[in-house]
Amino acid sequence: MFDKIQAGTGLERTAEKYYQQFSAGDSKRTAANCNRFKSADDDVRSNYNLAILPIVMYPDDVLEQRCTKVASFNKKLAKLLDNMYETMIAADGVGLAAPQVGVSQQVAIVDIGDESGIIEMINPEILVTDGEQTGPEGCLSFPGTYGEVSRPYFVKIRAQDRKGRFFELAAEDFLARAIQHEIDHLNGVLFTSKITAYLTEEELERYEEE
Ligand SMILES: [Zn+2]
Repeated sequence: MFDKIQAGTGLERTAEKYYQQFSAGDSKRTAANCNRFKSADDDVRSNYNLAILPIVMYPDDVLEQRCTKVASFNKKLAKLLDNMYETMIAADGVGLAAPQVGVSQQVAIVDIGDESGIIEMINPEILVTDGEQTGPEGCLSFPGTYGEVSRPYFVKIRAQDRKGRFFELAAEDFLARAIQHEIDHLNGVLFTSKITAYLTEEELERYEEE
């Protein structure tokens, strides 16, 4: 998402995928998540229960603040990331930024349901952008609001992972859109400031049928 994608784009978390993901039960899914983060944190992970956090809705001030950089890559950060993932999945989203759960820090996640898996971005910076794409976006902090937004088609970023290790990532098309939407959140920039045409849910469906 954007945070919220409707069916038909081919990239959204579809009801079918959603079903598949949960059909084996939450415990299995959680175990699978843990495997994705196989690391020294695994010991830590078993010490707490994952939580679905309340999502902050517009016009809460925290959504329009520039987030502070993360300096400590500790258990608290790992827990925030894990809880953000649970929250994003529960809300059927493809991305979530920390200010959307009331934490004004440069932490965001994206998972559009493709082979890229979960992308965790801490202190992300955009290094390169190229091209242009225009498409519908929504946001978990703006339920029922959709609009066309133009963004670069390609993006290359540099960020840190939950251990503080730097990485670079290149993305295009929908993944690039989702990454840019979330990085905007960390700068207090909301997608509504970039909407060129608002879409009703009916228009959104029609848009996606094309
Ligand atoms: Zn958003």
